[in-house]
Amino acid sequence: MTVLGTSAAASHVGKIRANNQDSGYAGTHLFVVADGMGGHAGGDVASAIAIQRIIQTDRVYPSPPDAEFALRSALLAANTLLAETVFDHPELTGMGTTVSAILRVGDRVAIAHIGDSRVYLLRGDNLSQVTADHTFVQRLVDSGRITAEEAAVHPRRSVLMRVLGDIDASPEIDTTIHDTLPGDRWMLCSDGLSSYVSDEKIKVVLENAIGADAAAQRLVKESLDQGAPDNVTVVVVSVDETNSSASTPPVIVGSAAAPLSFDSDSSRRALRLPTLLLHPLRPVPPDDAHFEPESEEFLDELILEDRRRARVRHITWLVGIVLAVITLVVALVLAYEWTQSHFFVGANGSTVAIYQGVQADIGPISLSKVYRSTTITLDSLPSYTRQSVIGTINANSLAEAQAITDRLTHVRP
Ligand code: CA
Repeated sequence: MTVLGTSAAASHVGKIRANNQDSGYAGTHLFVVADGMGGHAGGDVASAIAIQRIIQTDRVYPSPPDAEFALRSALLAANTLLAETVFDHPELTGMGTTVSAILRVGDRVAIAHIGDSRVYLLRGDNLSQVTADHTFVQRLVDSGRITAEEAAVHPRRSVLMRVLGDIDASPEIDTTIHDTLPGDRWMLCSDGLSSYVSDEKIKVVLENAIGADAAAQRLVKESLDQGAPDNVTVVVVSVDETNSSASTPPVIVGSAAAPLSFDSDSSRRALRLPTLLLHPLRPVPPDDAHFEPESEEFLDELILEDRRRARVRHITWLVGIVLAVITLVVALVLAYEWTQSHFFVGANGSTVAIYQGVQADIGPISLSKVYRSTTITLDSLPSYTRQSVIGTINANSLAEAQAITDRLTHVRP
């Protein structure tokens, strides 16, 4: 019989958020990740309540469908608990949580999933994402409205279509039964990992880490290396052939590991400015949110709104460029006019002339021109005066330049 061998869970608040709204569990038969969300408070409460309810299913089942049924029932029960909690604590209205869970029965696993946390399976050298994200952008991809590449950078990529929470009394939960083989490595994670670390990188870590604990810690570190704008939670399960009943003691990480706290204050708000400082090129992760569109028309409306926003961004960019060009031209004209208010006396061939402008060139453009020629020849001037003229004599005004040439008329060697 195949059993799930070593497992591990790791969770980190990340580098930007003020608190950890993720929860994770690595038990005997059950492995779960939950990513909470909700207004200015409640995300941590939501994921903790869900995990605490769902871990009651961590036991032996007679068959995989029994395990699947137990998981689905536990997620629905957690949903009811969340609604009841919001009823008792209205300040938590709008809280919700994703849940991705696997529950093993021999050489099969039952999977239950809602939201955008993920279950991955590494088998041989193939890493596959077993769950589908219940996100707005994934729905657009599925319906052919946008490409997967557009989805990865879409402004609404963190908007969830389905979560456990106080909105829907009977949320749609995906459940499946999957086989598992010795050597398989399962990995569950919140979007704090999958949104910032590539599948290629995840695969390399899962392939190379010696133990489940090393793999989980390493994946969290990969997210931190990317700036970890969000909470990050990872659960890793290595499947081996041992039939030992001795397993790692169950581990709870994230907000579910701490006592439930219902107080809300502004310190729970995400700190946004440091993200801009750490990663000026990366947009701040938008607050997790979820909604349930009532119709396809509503989806189309949202797409149109996104296109309108893109157009406005485009126009804003064009106007910016035009304004910059106008400013540059005005500055150049003013600078040129300033140079033309200056005069100097210098040599023009073999005679002395009054120049308007300053003695400088910008590329092929000369900033001075002969304003008035004189009949004074350079040869008629004493050596020292001739050198002064060749070196140019600055004047503060046209009158002063005129006075200089008048004096030169009377200088004789
Ligand atoms: Ca998250």
